[in-house]
Amino acid sequence: MRNHKVYLIGAGPGRADMITVRGLKILQQADVIIHDYLVDKAALEGLKPGAEIISSERYGKKACHGRSGQAQKKINDLMVKMAKAGRHVARLKNGDTSIFSRISEEIEALEKNKIEFEIVPGVTAASAASSFTGVPLTDRRYSSNVVFVTGHENPDKGIKIDWRRIAGMDTIALYMSSGDISDIAWKLIRSGRPETTAVLAVSNAGAVNQKTAIAALGSIADTVQKNAIKAPAIFIIGKTAGLEKRYNWLRKNRRILFTGLSGERFFLKGTYFHLPLIRIEPLEDYSGFDRYLKNIKMFDWIVFSSRFGVEYFFKRLKELGLDARILNNIKIAAIGNCTSERLLDFTISADLVPKKESSKGLIDEFRELDIKAKKIFLPRSDISDKGLEKEFEKLGAKVTSSFAYRNVMAEGLPDLDLNNFDEIMFTSPSGVRSFINRYGKAPLKVKIACIGDTTKKEALKWGLLG
Ligand code: SAH
Repeated sequence: MRNHKVYLIGAGPGRADMITVRGLKILQQADVIIHDYLVDKAALEGLKPGAEIISSERYGKKACHGRSGQAQKKINDLMVKMAKAGRHVARLKNGDTSIFSRISEEIEALEKNKIEFEIVPGVTAASAASSFTGVPLTDRRYSSNVVFVTGHENPDKGIKIDWRRIAGMDTIALYMSSGDISDIAWKLIRSGRPETTAVLAVSNAGAVNQKTAIAALGSIADTVQKNAIKAPAIFIIGKTAGLEKRYNWLRKNRRILFTGLSGERFFLKGTYFHLPLIRIEPLEDYSGFDRYLKNIKMFDWIVFSSRFGVEYFFKRLKELGLDARILNNIKIAAIGNCTSERLLDFTISADLVPKKESSKGLIDEFRELDIKAKKIFLPRSDISDKGLEKEFEKLGAKVTSSFAYRNVMAEGLPDLDLNNFDEIMFTSPSGVRSFINRYGKAPLKVKIACIGDTTKKEALKWGLLG
């Protein structure tokens, strides 16, 4: 029998790395991923080659509560159809799988069709809002219970909320309420909750554009409006919300918007928000590049100026059925530690890594060697300038450069209030250009940090450095 098992997985809210390790492992083996629109698109990168990614948006309205029965049915049918076709299906749901997610309808559709399934939990929005603001949902002193409530009442569908009972809970985590918060706050007050009760509003919890506001129940609606807190947002109501002032670590830490591509490093001072402004993509046509690879023995040196050059070089080598032994007798240089470390992953220890991590540093060291008439191969990005090539030529070398990958501006970058950051860090000139293209300029109070001279030059050119 064909394996038609379906996994219903919680993606967590706000950011791609909020998924569980188990969820991610399963995702990486899936042929088809059907995801909610709120799932961070970065979670859908680097999956199995050829995996089909389908957004539930294609089937109707965005929000869960707004998703029509019709749209839900189409998602169920699709899941069943794909599973029956023998494909490995992952249904990736925002937050946790079991909280306001209409999972019962999906389970019933699978049951009815005798399709085996498993459920993998996720971090629910209330937990993320709690962690990313330092506000506990329970506290031995103030709160021994917490209730998750949808603000989306619909008596026709059996959702009639008993606000009296809700108002009596210690902590209330309110979902799907940003549009109706004025009405809901009023209902809670009328049901006996004091107007002075603390309320914390968090939109886009965990994401680079997270916003928070704190107010008393009586004035939360005004505060939400004034601070433009929009969906998806969650409200934490109760005494623990009052701890925000003391416990909000994010407000106290230095907040750094890191715009480069390298992976997140932890235990650095300050909190890093990762917003890659560029993307690295393969070329459409590798025939030119491959020709050089097949004749790589004709070169004396290969100079890698980025780790992506290394990655695409070896990817193509593999694709061509060649292996690293073909590089025997060729000398290899790498600019930057990242590049030389990536080479080590392919068991290549570079012959030359300039102490100064830049093209200039590299040329200075090559000047000490005799490279007259030596043949140099330079795998590079489609947008790098010809500076390095020219410098090598000045030293009498014969340079062949070839595009190994494309460097493109990231799409779908979120609206951001840049004043929420203390520092913006750029790591490449293309990142600077993408930033200018999307955000125009940076507020004066925000420090701009640049890694590398060429990045700094580009930032100066666009007036980012004052
Ligand atoms: N299953 C999800 C909830 C889906 S209902 C979970 O467990 O979190 C959609 C609602 O979730 C939104 O209206 C909002 O109230 C909340 N939500 C989802 N993502 C959020 C986020 N990043 N920040 C704040 N609230 C979020």
